[in-house]
Amino acid sequence: MLQNVEYVKTDSFSSMDQSPPPNEFKKTLDKPVTQIATNVEKISMPVTRAAEDVPYWLSDCLKDAQNMIIEHHHEKPDDLNFGDCATFLAGKTFGVKIQNNGNASGDINLIRDLPSQPSYKICIHDMLDYDTRDNRRMVTIILIHQLLHAIHPSRIHDSTNEQNGINRLEHEIANKASYHDGLLNLESLYQSGKINRCHV
Ligand SMILES: [Zn+2]
Repeated sequence: MLQNVEYVKTDSFSSMDQSPPPNEFKKTLDKPVTQIATNVEKISMPVTRAAEDVPYWLSDCLKDAQNMIIEHHHEKPDDLNFGDCATFLAGKTFGVKIQNNGNASGDINLIRDLPSQPSYKICIHDMLDYDTRDNRRMVTIILIHQLLHAIHPSRIHDSTNEQNGINRLEHEIANKASYHDGLLNLESLYQSGKINRCHV
């Protein structure tokens, strides 16, 4: 939660008006007013950007999904630069946002011919745009599914004789992590036609 750290910075800066400045700010205050204004802008920019990019609870779900994969999925990623899922997930960049892409539960900008794709954008259906316990667990499973697409871009949804498909892996990981309720709630949404299955 680096975003919170940035908030602390901003708060302590504004509180300087009422109290003597801490030592670390003395140097800044000696500078001309214009220089101070520039510094304020530099401090506040990351806060705004982080808040717009990923709501905090989606960041939590992404972290949970990554940890569940690291704990329960031990096959090597397609990208041969990474020996396991932990180094793969740490070495790539993932952005998550709420966006309805063809009514799919989730979507990812996967480039199948590029196993070394450095960054990914994942979308979550806007029907799940509320921070509730049920939504968190469904969103975490959807994120697991999309992260598995990134880890194994060569695989299709269904299993073959040679290897497990993305859907099977998603169910295995969710079950091992005791996310049965999330799986059932998602299945119910699919059956009702309120959202569609992933079409990546
Ligand atoms: Zn999929």
